[in-house]
Amino acid sequence: MSLYQEAADLILSSKHMLALTGAGISTESGIPDFRSNTGYYSKMDPMAALSRDTLLNNPRQFYREGFVILKDLQDKKPNEGHYALAQLEDLGYLKGIVTQNIDNLHTRAGSKTVYEVHGHTRTVHCLKCGKTLPFEDYRKKVLVDQEIPPKCPSCGGDLRPDVVMFGDMMPPAFEAAFAAAQNSDLMLVCGSSLVVAPVSYLPGMVKKLIIINKEETPYDYKADIVLHEAIGPALTKIVEAVNEKRSS
Ligand code: NAD
Repeated sequence: MSLYQEAADLILSSKHMLALTGAGISTESGIPDFRSNTGYYSKMDPMAALSRDTLLNNPRQFYREGFVILKDLQDKKPNEGHYALAQLEDLGYLKGIVTQNIDNLHTRAGSKTVYEVHGHTRTVHCLKCGKTLPFEDYRKKVLVDQEIPPKCPSCGGDLRPDVVMFGDMMPPAFEAAFAAAQNSDLMLVCGSSLVVAPVSYLPGMVKKLIIINKEETPYDYKADIVLHEAIGPALTKIVEAVNEKRSS
């Protein structure tokens, strides 16, 4: 039996499967991750560039470096990995996706229960009055109007993206993801180095683990199935195996 078929067996026998996705699922959509050889760490220090401290105290650095990571995500499209997870949810096997990604690609692929534990790039808000604006308006202020830091049209306060930056509190979505993990018997981890806390604690909470990641992760030793390969094609083969077993 192939590892895809073994993964399908685990999925078919699970009662509550959760997926945990990281930047690696979106590299096939043309979005660099952080820690691969070609990731953002090879060009800058994302922990400094995308930090709350830099945003508040050194906005020029934030808009020169951190903003570069955020500004083009709206133009990217979901890939076969995102669609495969949406299909597993439609089939009733996947109960939700906990994602560290901020690129909105799971919802754009049709996934419904998505815990965006590091926020998203659909909106921004004003640090002074709390007003929410579309990310696109904020992007235009920075790139076209060169307004740095960009200001709230209502009160003139500074705007900030609705992504969780280094130094920020975790959002309520993390509590919901934690509760979902407590309820789960299988986690399908796709494209995370599993080194960013507190999300990296979640795989330790479930009995069964499937990991798809090009490189080793700290949880490989604990996983039932590990696939060190590209996520999109691997997930497609797993969904095919699930469908074959369902119809046999
Ligand atoms: P990471 O960069 O630490 O790890 C990504 C992992 O995915 C690496 O181990 C890499 O080997 C693997 N990988 C990359 N492409 C792959 C592919 N096609 N197939 C299989 N494996 C592949 O990412 P992380 O664990 O998500 O943590 C870093 C932080 O990066 C997160 O907090 C996240 O918010 C942020 N981030 C998000 C995006 C995004 O929204 N797309 C992009 C960059 C960074």
